[in-house]
Amino acid sequence: MAKCLRCSSRASYFVSYVRGGFCREHFVEYMEERVLRTIERYRMVPRGSKVIVAVSGGKDSIMLLNVLAKRRDEVGYGELVAVHINLGIRGYSEEAERVSLENCRALGVKCVVVNLRELIGVGVEELSKLSRRPACSVCGLVKRYILNAIAIAMGADVVATGHHLDDMLVYTFKNMLSSSVEELSKLTPVSPGVKGLVASRVRPLFEVYEENTLAYVIAAGLQHLSRECPLKHVGVVERESRGYFEKLEREIPGFKLTAIRNIMKTMAMGKSETTETPARCELCGMPSRERICSFCRLTEKALGKPMGSQVVKKLEELVKTAIAS
Ligand code: SF4
Ligand code: ZN
Ligand code: ZN
Repeated sequence: MAKCLRCSSRASYFVSYVRGGFCREHFVEYMEERVLRTIERYRMVPRGSKVIVAVSGGKDSIMLLNVLAKRRDEVGYGELVAVHINLGIRGYSEEAERVSLENCRALGVKCVVVNLRELIGVGVEELSKLSRRPACSVCGLVKRYILNAIAIAMGADVVATGHHLDDMLVYTFKNMLSSSVEELSKLTPVSPGVKGLVASRVRPLFEVYEENTLAYVIAAGLQHLSRECPLKHVGVVERESRGYFEKLEREIPGFKLTAIRNIMKTMAMGKSETTETPARCELCGMPSRERICSFCRLTEKALGKPMGSQVVKKLEELVKTAIAS
């Protein structure tokens, strides 16, 4: 019988890169320490800061919410607010909202719910069809825009998201293959912000394997969405590269962790010190590299009018009501 690396109980949760396992209680403790070390290593959360945690209801964001709420003193933030975006995906978003709210309630974390249909009249699926763009690409753009706008409206210092190591490794690999330098520069543990315009984005699960996020929510007894989004589409490069990295991890335990750390070091070496401040979209005032931001362009194409400024106003009202309640 394999023993827990921290006590004499039986090990039931295994972590490939430590070449051993833990009992339930010590696995939860080990994973939380791992997240805390990542936050410290990359200086993600300034002491006393206001942190927004994006909660989708899936295992990754539920793990992140739980660690941040439970380990408040060690993380050192001043305030934690959860934001859940209801994407209007029928047969899926209802449960995602319920699970997110129930976890926040259990942890005593205030949760602001943003409903995409109430904001722009349609959900992600319709937006994807009307704009003739893949659902996940539209969804990612919408989530980034809303999270940034709500963080600015709340005066938050940091937005934390539940991207784990496997996602980051595969996205980095894909973007290297397609030479998307700009996309690559976003795939880092910390994306610094610009006060009043761009909220700093941090990814505290950056060094946590996906299989461990699932094991964590099970071991900690946390409710999470059990099914996948019906709009999820995994392309061939993504599917095959995930399989390839898994195979390497089985042959060389710790391969994925070493790989992502080395990629980050290489990227940091090639980075110039001067960071450009993005301009503001002429229509909504949110950050944009072009005259009109991608959210305003998307909504104009799909719905016949750019909706950025209307969305920003509605989010400001929502924040005022949420703070007052
Ligand atoms: Fe959005 Fe795609 Fe994730 Fe569904 S799978 S929630 S469409 S990003
Ligand atoms: Zn133990
Ligand atoms: Zn805009």
